[in-house]
Amino acid sequence: MTKVIAVVCVVACAGAQQQPGTKWTDQQIREAVSAVRVGRKLTPKSWPNNSRVAVCLSFDDDTEATLLRDGTTSPTTLSASDFGAESGTGRILAMLDRYQVPATFFVTGVDALLHPEMLTAILKSGRHEVGAHGWIHEFPPRLAEGEEERLLDKAIDYLTKATGKRPAGYRAPSWAFSPDTMDLIRKKGFLYDSSLQALDEPYEIVARGENTGIVELAIDWTLTETPYLGQNGRMPSPALLFELYKEEFDGAYKEGTLFVLTLHPYMSGHRAPMQHLDALVAYMKSKPGVWFATGEQITKYLKAAAAK
Ligand SMILES: [Zn+2]
Repeated sequence: MTKVIAVVCVVACAGAQQQPGTKWTDQQIREAVSAVRVGRKLTPKSWPNNSRVAVCLSFDDDTEATLLRDGTTSPTTLSASDFGAESGTGRILAMLDRYQVPATFFVTGVDALLHPEMLTAILKSGRHEVGAHGWIHEFPPRLAEGEEERLLDKAIDYLTKATGKRPAGYRAPSWAFSPDTMDLIRKKGFLYDSSLQALDEPYEIVARGENTGIVELAIDWTLTETPYLGQNGRMPSPALLFELYKEEFDGAYKEGTLFVLTLHPYMSGHRAPMQHLDALVAYMKSKPGVWFATGEQITKYLKAAAAK
């Protein structure tokens, strides 16, 4: 009996230790969320050419960087990610060319280093933007002090040299902010971030109560394919997923706001999802008043509109 009570106590005490928030004061709770909050909503009164909605097609063009970060050198495993550079990106670029629409590609420094031809292909049409996605797809919350900045600097330097333009947009690797990320985004002079999920319309980020001027082009786990089509994916067919995207677009169109889609060429560049992506872009193109733009173009428009 005593033993049973002891076991229960251990479990309960361990549980309590894992719930530090239960002991926080009101002030501590407010401080815990204050690092990054939603500020002004930035949906403009009108989009360019009186369009009804803005569409940002974004691609996290991850290839081997994430695996190399963890020390994986298995050629078999690496090859599945290499697909993004060797096949997926080319297919997506060809589709974007067919519809003559721009997109934003978030690329890590290491993936750019390994695949200069991929970067050249992205830049070829002059329509697409390249944004920063970390150096080696590092996971910012788990880095030692100072490492996030060192790796981000490496990424910015490499992408700036490789593309001839300093990246204007940031998307955190794994969409994961550390407590330092927001300060770094401001310090490095990014115009916008696209890693957070608090609204499905654009907004200004407030950091510790201060307006930052950084525009958030929010993303969402339902508007990306990784949880559904990835190795542990739960979606039986990409058709269902792209039906969800279509309905999300319809909602953004009705509301007159912004539709941001985030896909990964190593995954969505396969034949089946490509058919559905092609059909989705065709559908959006068929509607009147849809402004396809890069994250940078949208951000600059929003900043100008907010300043009026
Ligand atoms: Zn990524």
